[in-house]
Formats: sequence, C-alpha cells, structure tokens
Amino acid sequence: MIDIDKLEEKNINPLLGTQALFGVSVVLPTPAHGRLPEVLSYCHSAALPPGTLVRVPLGARDLLGVVWATEEGARDGAGELGLVALKPITAVLDVPPLGKAWVDLIRFAAGYYQRFAGELAMAALPPQLRDLDEAQFARLMKKRAKKSIPLYGIGGIPREGQGGSSKASLQASPEQDAVLAALQNRDPRPKLLFGATGSGKTEVYLRRIEQVLVQSESAQALVMVPEINLTPQMEARFAGRIEARFGRGTVVLMHSGMTPAQRTASWLAAHLGQARLVLGTRLAVLASMPNLRLIVVDEEHDPSYKSQDGSRYSARDLAVYRASSSPSNERIQVILGSATPSIETWHNANPVHDKPPRYQRLDMPSRINAAAMPKVRLVDMRLQQKSELMVGGLAPALMAAITERAERGEQSLLFLNRRGYAPVLHCGSCEWKSACPNCSANQVFHKKDRRLRCHHCSLTTAVPRQCPLCGNLDIGMQGRGTEQLEELLVQQLGTKFRVLRLDADSTKTKGSLEAQMASVHAGEVDVLVGTQMVTKGHDFRRITLVAAVNPDSALFAADFRAPERLFSLLMQAAGRAGRDASISSAAEMWLQTQHPEHPLYKALAAHDYPAFAASQLAEREGAAMPPFSYQALVRAEGRTQELAQAFLDSAAAVVATESAFELWRDPASKNYVTLYPAVPMPMQRINNVERAQMLVEAPSRMALQRMLTAWQPFLRELKTQGVLRWALDVDPLTI
Ligand code: ADP
Ligand code: ZN
Ligand code: ZN
Repeated sequence: MIDIDKLEEKNINPLLGTQALFGVSVVLPTPAHGRLPEVLSYCHSAALPPGTLVRVPLGARDLLGVVWATEEGARDGAGELGLVALKPITAVLDVPPLGKAWVDLIRFAAGYYQRFAGELAMAALPPQLRDLDEAQFARLMKKRAKKSIPLYGIGGIPREGQGGSSKASLQASPEQDAVLAALQNRDPRPKLLFGATGSGKTEVYLRRIEQVLVQSESAQALVMVPEINLTPQMEARFAGRIEARFGRGTVVLMHSGMTPAQRTASWLAAHLGQARLVLGTRLAVLASMPNLRLIVVDEEHDPSYKSQDGSRYSARDLAVYRASSSPSNERIQVILGSATPSIETWHNANPVHDKPPRYQRLDMPSRINAAAMPKVRLVDMRLQQKSELMVGGLAPALMAAITERAERGEQSLLFLNRRGYAPVLHCGSCEWKSACPNCSANQVFHKKDRRLRCHHCSLTTAVPRQCPLCGNLDIGMQGRGTEQLEELLVQQLGTKFRVLRLDADSTKTKGSLEAQMASVHAGEVDVLVGTQMVTKGHDFRRITLVAAVNPDSALFAADFRAPERLFSLLMQAAGRAGRDASISSAAEMWLQTQHPEHPLYKALAAHDYPAFAASQLAEREGAAMPPFSYQALVRAEGRTQELAQAFLDSAAAVVATESAFELWRDPASKNYVTLYPAVPMPMQRINNVERAQMLVEAPSRMALQRMLTAWQPFLRELKTQGVLRWALDVDPLTI
C-alpha cells in the first residue's frame, strides 16, 4: 500500500512561476476500502475537461487516471499556496476526452454501488491503457486514425454474409411487427421484450438496431449477452447482418476473454465512433459510446449481469440508468429481453396496485412458425427408486425416450449441475469424507484423471487407495456428476450413437468449446450432456428432448431467489427443444423429481411464467423482500470467522451509536434500516479464508443509499485487524 504521508512530500513544482497553473482533480484505481481518497489533486498548465485521460504520479508509480474536475479559471501559481504542493500531471493521453454522459454514468455507478469512481472508471477502460506509455499510445492512435473503415474481425468474427444476411429478407411475424412498431413510439420508458424462447427476439433486436443505425450516420448500438463464448453463433449472426449493411468492422466485441490488444482496439473503435454496434458482456455497459442510441440486454434475467467481485455493479440496471439519464434529444432506448424476466423487471413492467408500470411490456408469446412449446413430463422419482431398471439415476422411461430420439436422428440434451464423476467420496465404516482442507466444500472425484479436485480453491490430490482415517479399503461414492452421466450414456448407447459432454472440464482448452458446439450443430452428436452451460441461448435445431436429471435441490434452498433461478434455468433449458417447427411436436422436457406436485413444476409444465412470477411476487410482498424492500450486504473476509464477524459487529455498532444514524434507527420512520446479525456466508471458508456477511435492509432505495453513503467513511476507519477484505454489495443477488 502507498504511504499517504509520503505523497505529500513537497517537491517544488517545475511549472511554477513560468505559467499559470490549474488544479486538476483526477480519479485513479484507488479502491473504496483502501486508504487513499477517491479524488486526488494535481496541477497542469492548461484546463483539462472532465473525462480527459492522463497519467499522474502516485508514490513511485505513474498511473492512468481520468480527470474529474478542473478548477475554474487560471491561477497564478506563485500566489496559490495550495497548488504549490501539487504534483504536475505527467502526460495527457492523445485521445478525445470521455464524454459527459460517460463521466455521469461512472459517477452514478460509483455512488450507487458504494465504490470509488476510479475503480469503476478503470473497469470501463481497456487494461492495456494502464501500461502503454505515451509513445506507444500515440502510435496506436495513428494506426487507428488511418482506418477509414475500422478493424475487422476483432475476436474472430466470421466474414459478412455468414449466419444472417440470408435471413434479412425474412418476413417478420405479426408479433415481431407489432413489437417493432411499439419500439418506434416516443414512449421513453425502458422496454421489456417478454418473448417465448424461439419467438424471434434476436430478430427483433437486429431489425431495431438496423432502424436506429440508419436514423443517423453516427448512431451506435450496444447489445449485451450473458456470455459470448457460449454463443459463437450469436456473434456470427450480429456481425453478418450489421456488417453486410453498414460496412466491415462496424461490429466489435467487448468481453474479458479477448486479448489486451483486442480490447483496446474495440474500446477505441467504440469511443471514436467507428464501431456502430458493440456486442459484449456485462463490462460493455460501461463502454464509452458517444453516439449511443440503443441498448439491448438479452436474457436480462441472467445472474452474470451482476458482477460477483470487484465493483459488483448490475449491468442490466446500469443499462436502464444509462438510458433514462439520456437527454431527450439524444435519447437512448433500452430493451430488456427474456422469456423468464427477473422478478424485479417483471414487477417494473406490470401495474402494481393500479400504479402504471415503469417499464413498457411487449409480448411475443408464440414461437416462430407456430412451433410448439415442448411438453413437460415430470418423472416421479419416488416411484422409480426401487425399479431394478434404474441405471445410474436415469429413469428407464427417460433412457428409452433418449434411445428412441437417437434412432430417429434427433438429439437429446441432459443437464446436471455438477461436474466431475461424483461430488464426494466417503468411507462406509467411519466418518471420512473427501472434504477440502482449505474450504467448506468437498473435493470432487474426477475419474478421467483419477483426481480429487476442489471446485473452489482448485486443490487437486490423488484418490486415496484406502480410507485415510481408518484404513478401510472400500471407499464409496456419493451422488453423480456429468462425467458419470456421460459414462453411463456411452455404456448404453455408445456403440451406435455419439455422446458428448460439455462442461467447464471438457472445454478448458482454447477453441474446444467452439469445436464441440460446431459438432452439435452439424448433427454429429446424438446426446449432449452437460452442466447448465448447455442450457443457455443456443439455437440448436435438432434437439427434441431436454432432461433435467436432478433439479430438486434448488427447490428448498435458503436463498429466496433460488426458485426464480431454477424456474428460469428449466424454462430456458426447455427452450432448447423443438426450435425447429418441423420437429417441434415431438419436443419434450423431462424432469426427474421427488416433488412432482410442487407448484414451481406445475407452472413450468404450463409454460406459465406470469403465474409463477405472480406467486413469487405475492410471497415476497408478504415477507417484505425485494422488490418490496432494498438490500445490501456487508461482506468481510478474515483469518477466522470470529474476526470477520467482529468487523461486521463493529460496523453495526457504528449505526447503533453514532448520532449521524439517528434517522435510520427509528423503527417508526419510513427510513428505518434493519441490520441483521452477522453470519457466516453460505460458502463459509474458501482457501482458508473465513467469510461472513451482514444483511442491511430498507423499505426504500433512497433510505438505503443515504445510509450506506453515510456509513462508508466509518467502515473505512474501522479497525481491520485480522480482516483481509471487506466490501459492500448493493442489490446482492445471492444472500
Ligand atoms: P429467440 O431469440 O426469441 O429465442 P430467435 O430470434 O433466435 O429467437 O429466433 C428463433 C429462430 O427463428 C431463429 O433461427 C431465427 O432465425 C428464426 N426466425 C426469427 N424470426 C423469424 C421470422 N420472422 N421468420 C422466420 N424465421 C425467423
Ligand atoms: Zn474410514
Ligand atoms: Zn478447496
């Protein structure tokens, strides 16, 4: 850490006396929980507009920073004592300053998520900018300026024409037409495109993007998807269509899987207005796009839009903010799309107690070409348990259905949310389990390389030949993972059909995911097995059977969002089946469950998201849970659980005792903020670090925001002995 006192060393300013000086405040990558202030002051010989990229000295280093404010008017350096002590800015980067809208977005996000502006600004800038020196940067800019048509093929987008242009001539369906007409109205509200899986939402996005891009030569659009690597064909579709019409290189990608050079190139193309469409993951919401007019958040319910570390922002919520804060003459339209919207979004898109909705809801209930939704079949596993025909946890009827599909040349998709062969090994004669010594989790048995592997800290050890505690030679397995399911299916079908497993283990090497996906599309795979990674977004044409092998555990999870996540997972998975109308009548979604009568499964069988959402909302309203209240978590990590909790206890004590918090302490006030006791996190220990959390809840967003803002400086001052890290998580997704 940098010693704050050293920074104040007086060095006589070289600019002093020769010319006027300006005080410039700059944000740097200083974290909110660190010792340095949010904004640092420097001086410069000219006024610099906010958003200018600069390099400034900090301790022994030169860091990338963003100008936040310049003191108005020139000052005579000699007369102004305050400025004498300031160090000069090292360099001003030769790139147009980031615009006011971008600076406002970062400012808002930092305030809302209780971060320092510099943290968010740095998350928004390509990492390479931090390392390039001026000369390198100048070269880069020169190269870029020469490109009348910008770089092509960033991240390997195939050439135009592929995967899209042929479809440009498609006749829009009546539902698509109605939605497109509604998107052209002047209603500034965010739009929720509530469209069934396979209803043609992507086609609507494409057409709307085309409309917006032809409205002005400089207009830009941003499309966010949960994970680009999982959906290479999405990339081909967008690039094919938009580049065919607007020129090569007008589409760029933005996600963390790109090389530093690619990220810089995409960022510059977007910032300089050369890119007309940015297709990216959550980090793209912070991209500088000076002429942005449209944001699409595809699969808006997806939890990956909320970052789980670092600045913990919700890209979906920031997209809505970015649109709603846009001036009316440069209006940004935001479209959130999903077949299973998040409960919060659904709440916003429907009237609440006769109040008109904040979002406009646009529905596309039918699949393209009237393809049928898959029939949902619940397999009562209580009746199956004793069946002698049960092999490896698959009901005989399901096995028969898969075989039948394979024989007809159709594909099946099975998913199970556990990778590896068996989630845990155990000893039958004593209490031994393959617990990870570093984490509160078990090491998973991976048969392929005969290893025990912890999925949290990656600790990998050999499989013991005998029980390490009692010497018993007979070590057993509990539960099943995707590797075992694959083995079983290969045993049953392998002589005639091809089984492919798709999970984090099978796709580790670069390019293997793409290759495997291609073989599924080419029809070379008859049965696809995987974790939930296989359920997302793919437009598989030949799948007529989808099966959830063991979905029950989420039904009774402690987290109040678990049912919502399960429902959307299953509905999205079902959405992979029967997308081609010609075979859709045979499409089925199988669920193996011990609770076939559960209302969640009933709603799923009826493909009735609105009914499910209504029941969730009623439950949450009754219990005053989000979206009927607002939450934040304070998380602390320490050497021991006691130390982590002690930190949270003292944080709570601040609220209980300091006079500044009176307003939020009064239970009669509508500002009353509830602090729950500190508890261990659900994953209590990872890599020998103990984790604890404290829930903070308020009836209004404003009350919570104000309280957190008042609290933050106290948290920064708290004694943190034995506490390695702490962080605030506003609107947490998992509790
Ligand atoms: P969603 O995003 O809602 O799941 P897609 O936009 O991927 O749906 O559309 C599903 C399939 O239907 C795609 O293969 C797409 O090319 C096709 N499609 C979309 N709109 C039309 C249309 N108007 N006419 C014919 N096919 C269409
Ligand atoms: Zn034992
Ligand atoms: Zn571990």
